[in-house]
Amino acid sequence: MQDHHVVVVGGGFGGVQLVNDLKGAPVRVTMIDKRNHHLFQPLLYQVATTLLSTSEIAWPIRSFFRDRPEVTTLLAEVVGVDGEAREVLLKDGQKIGYDTLVLATGATHAYFGHDEWEPVAPGLKTLEDATTIRRRILLAFERAEMETDPAVREALLTFVIVGAGPTGVELAGIISELARTTLPKEFRNIDTRKAKIILVEAGPRVLAAFAEDLSDYARKELEKLGVELRFGEPVTSCTAEGVTIGDAFVPCRTIVWAAGVEASPAAKWLGIPADRAGRAIVDKNLRAPGTGDVFVIGDTASVLREDGSPVPGIAPAAKQQGAYVAKAIKAKLAGRPVPGPFHYRHQGSLATIGKSAAIIDFGWIKLKGWIAWWVWGLAHIYFLIGVRWRIAVAWSWLWIYLSRQHSARLITQRESMREE
Ligand SMILES: Cc1cc2nc3c(=O)[nH]c(=O)nc-3n(C[C@H](O)[C@H](O)[C@H](O)COP(=O)(O)OP(=O)(O)OC[C@H]3O[C@@H](n4cnc5c(N)ncnc54)[C@H](O)[C@@H]3O)c2cc1C
Repeated sequence: MQDHHVVVVGGGFGGVQLVNDLKGAPVRVTMIDKRNHHLFQPLLYQVATTLLSTSEIAWPIRSFFRDRPEVTTLLAEVVGVDGEAREVLLKDGQKIGYDTLVLATGATHAYFGHDEWEPVAPGLKTLEDATTIRRRILLAFERAEMETDPAVREALLTFVIVGAGPTGVELAGIISELARTTLPKEFRNIDTRKAKIILVEAGPRVLAAFAEDLSDYARKELEKLGVELRFGEPVTSCTAEGVTIGDAFVPCRTIVWAAGVEASPAAKWLGIPADRAGRAIVDKNLRAPGTGDVFVIGDTASVLREDGSPVPGIAPAAKQQGAYVAKAIKAKLAGRPVPGPFHYRHQGSLATIGKSAAIIDFGWIKLKGWIAWWVWGLAHIYFLIGVRWRIAVAWSWLWIYLSRQHSARLITQRESMREE
């Protein structure tokens, strides 16, 4: 057993990459996560919209390290850090000592000061969120089939998605396809094709992070899928009866929140400055200022690129930061100089619209349409963990593509048909 103890909090993209890259280093590692699974968040919307099942996009964290006796995995929630004592504080009162600490605790959605909207407008971050959204979508169709009041039926068949970033666009596209191609033949009292899918964006266009021509293409594809787009006005209230967009009230029973990001409270635990989204501001070596041995990486860190723009909160950035910190720890233990400042390499931006269109911006080339969709699909399959799951997801997609059937349509958790 090695003496130097590295504690990694968060088994997401950044944390897992870091522990993988520490293989062979003279360290003992403790990986702490409040969930027992690593989640492939980029495909979470496919669980929420009945394309994939939960086990196709999440894997037990401890299973990754079964052949690494120096790695201990703990299922526990971190609630603070005692920098003086060099200890991580757990929710149950236990403390874990560290020599080097890496906080990779990610981010979640933010309601811009309206946390009271969360129960009626769940965001998409965890498997529980995805199954809750899936259940609400499926129950809305079931209730509409039983409903005799036309106004209530219309509200049940109205789905509002707030935020037209990649997640909002992906959700809107697939819900529309579900209503228009998968469900129509299965219902007798309602025409599911008449379901309204409304995508609300306070800004002037969808997928604002992409170039205007790609964003314009995505808008046209959404319109072809029957998605109604509302730009330029923010959502001002969300209730169980509906959503208010600007001043207009839209009766609906299903709202999904896909806007806003808030980092985990790592900056508060360390008592260091944070940016507006709560991300801990770290130095060029990803260290928390004033601490020699505490690193913050991934979505919970605020890191600037050489040109002053922020490193984006996406999976490749978290993985690159995990790899960088592993290198820094190894160098320090070997008595070598620490690597130069962290350098982020942007590999491209991707988003899908429905089951056969996507946009991709690699910087040197832009793609759209079905070619982009195939590249998007292959990239995501490549990044899934393990051959078995790559084959499983590829097979699920092929089946959906050919049959137009969504296979993961089980209503679980609360089965009640009554309004919640
Ligand atoms: C719906 C959705 C779609 C996305 N799509 C894409 C995409 O298409 N492409 C892309 O590149 N990126 C995408 N992202 C972003 C990408 O998933 C994140 O950038 C990436 O997950 C960040 O990695 P991370 O390691 O910083 O955090 P995460 O992967 O979020 O991992 C954080 C881990 O920390 C754990 N944790 C949090 N708090 C605590 C605590 N207090 N104690 C113990 N454990 C804790 C969590 O359980 C989690 O396992 C998407 C994100 C979402 C939510």
